[in-house]
Parts: sequence; structure tokens; C-alpha cells
Amino acid sequence: MILLDGKHIAATIRQEIREQVEQLRAAGCRVPKLVIVIVGHNPASETYVANKMKACAEVGIEAEKRAFEASVTEAELLAEVARLNSDPSVDGFIVQLPLPEHIAETAILSAIDYRKDVDGLTPANVGRTVQGLPSIVSATPRGIRELLARYHIATEGKHVVVIGRSNIVGKPIAMLLMQRPYLSLPSMSAASLGNATVTVCHSKTQDLASICRTADIIIVAAGSPKLLTADMVREGATVIDVGINRVDDPASPKGYRLVGDVDFEQVAPKTAYITPVPGGVGPMTIVSLLQNTLQAYSND
Ligand code: NAD
Repeated sequence: MILLDGKHIAATIRQEIREQVEQLRAAGCRVPKLVIVIVGHNPASETYVANKMKACAEVGIEAEKRAFEASVTEAELLAEVARLNSDPSVDGFIVQLPLPEHIAETAILSAIDYRKDVDGLTPANVGRTVQGLPSIVSATPRGIRELLARYHIATEGKHVVVIGRSNIVGKPIAMLLMQRPYLSLPSMSAASLGNATVTVCHSKTQDLASICRTADIIIVAAGSPKLLTADMVREGATVIDVGINRVDDPASPKGYRLVGDVDFEQVAPKTAYITPVPGGVGPMTIVSLLQNTLQAYSND
């Protein structure tokens, strides 16, 4: 069993990005710029935004936070999106979700220019991904694909089972892995990604265990601790655990610890490759945002 060390791979990619940004600076070019729009004072969102700002600073990407009170109107936020769309000094921007209830998320996301949509969540980017056109892929699926590529885990002809059908993980990763690979994407090191036979499972799927047992690769993004147990995994399979769940742990100073969706202790010995939680997909997600920002900059 080989651990897919997302922490290590993410550090390698950060170093690659740092060098690329440094080269731009040395050549007298402006550096890439990311703007993060945050609305209200959701503590989790504030932590995510702080982490993203820090990640940018570490690699030399310019990052700017634009904070709005929760009382901001949809029209005011749409005006900000329009302004960022047309600001040539901004390569990419994200609107941190969730938004307050009086603002329609779809209206805001749909208004973002897909070339600056470094979260890859606009209908335009998702549509382009579906059609196999160059697009900005949302961070977690991009990170999973990168992790597979860096460990030379080919997906061509393999049966991939995806558990979860969310817009941010399940649907896009399924779409990416079933595509004919398109090599124009930056930083892909394996030509044999894509071309998989993909089965997408969800909460209404019947006999999940039998379907999983036919998988060469299982990607779990359900948000349910120990959903994937050893009897559901065949010997030599690859398991990618996207889940992040807090479980009570009186022995931990925080009183809880983070676990994925996989019964790691039981499943890991059966696998060829498996991601740990934490330290697997999570670090890849953050670094993917940096890659997307660089991609948006280069597409100018
Ligand atoms: P979600 O929470 O929007 O939806 C969960 C999906 O799992 C649904 O499609 C549901 O049908 C399916 N599901 C739930 N229970 C199931 C079951 N028992 N059997 C089969 N399918 C089941 O999904 P999400 O936003 O993709 O998040 C999923 C998990 O991934 C969460 O734990 C989230 O915190 C985590 N996550 C991690 C990262 C990361 O960077 N590591 C990024 C995004 C999400």
C-alpha cells in the first residue's frame, strides 16, 4: 500500500509556482493577482479566506480581500463582480461561499467571467469542461487529478466509482475522468488520465457495496465517516478519500479530530494506493486554486 501524500505533492507544486512567479518578476512582468470576495462574518469562511491569502503570499501571487457586510444587496455584489470582470489588473477572483440567503448564488456565479473564474464554478466553465474544451476546473477535482497524475496512476480503461454527486466534487471529477484526455492543460504529467469508465453513486444508489467491489479506483466525497468499509474494496484498488468530518475525540486537545469517509485502518491494507485524511486531497485543493490563478494569468 502506498500513501498518496497530498501534503508533499502540494509542497512540490507550491515550489514550482513560486519559481514561475519569480521568473515573471525577474522578467519585469507583473505577478498574477487573485481577489477574494467575502460577504458577512461566517467563521469557517473567514478561516478559508485567510488560508487562501496565506497560500498566495507564500508563492508570491498578489492577493486582495474585498469584504462586504452581510447586508450587501445582490445588485451591489453583481456590480462588484462586473467591476472585477473588467479590471485588467485582476487575473482571477472568487466569491467565497456560502452567501447570505437573500443573495442568489447562481446569479452571482453566472455573472463571473469564466476566464477569471478560478474556482471553476461558473456554468460556463462547467459546460466547457463537459464539452472537453479548455476550462478552469474547480479546485478539488483538479487536485485529485493532479495527485493521480503525479503518482502515475493511469485511469484509461479503468472502472472509477465516484461516491457523491456534488457540483464541487462528484460531478466534475466524474466528468474529467471519463473525458478523452486533453493535453493542453498545464502541469499534467500523465497522458493516460481520463478515458475511464465512470459510475457515479449517491444517497439513492442501491447496493453501493457491490458497485464499489467492481472498482479499480474509488473516489469518496459523501461527508459520512467510515462510509467505505473494507468489504466494499477489492484487493489492489486505489482509494481517494475527499471527506472531511469532525468526530469527537476527548483525547485530542481540541476535543475532536478530522476523519475522511473511509474506514482507513481496515481499508488501507487492501489498497494499492490510498489518500490519508488529513494530508491527502485537502492540501491539493488549496494548491489547485494557485494553479488556477496562474492559468488565468497565462490565458490573457
Ligand atoms: P455534499 O455534502 O454536497 O453531498 C454529499 C454527496 O454524497 C451527495 O451527492 C449524496 O448523495 C452523497 N452521499 C451522502 N451519503 C451517502 C451514502 N451513504 N451513500 C452514497 N452516497 C452518499 O458533497 P461535497 O460538498 O462534495 O462534500 C463531500 C465531503 O467532501 C464533505 O465531507 C466535505 O467536507 C468534503 N470536501 C472536502 C474537500 C477537500 O478539499 N478535501 C473539498 C470539498 C469537500
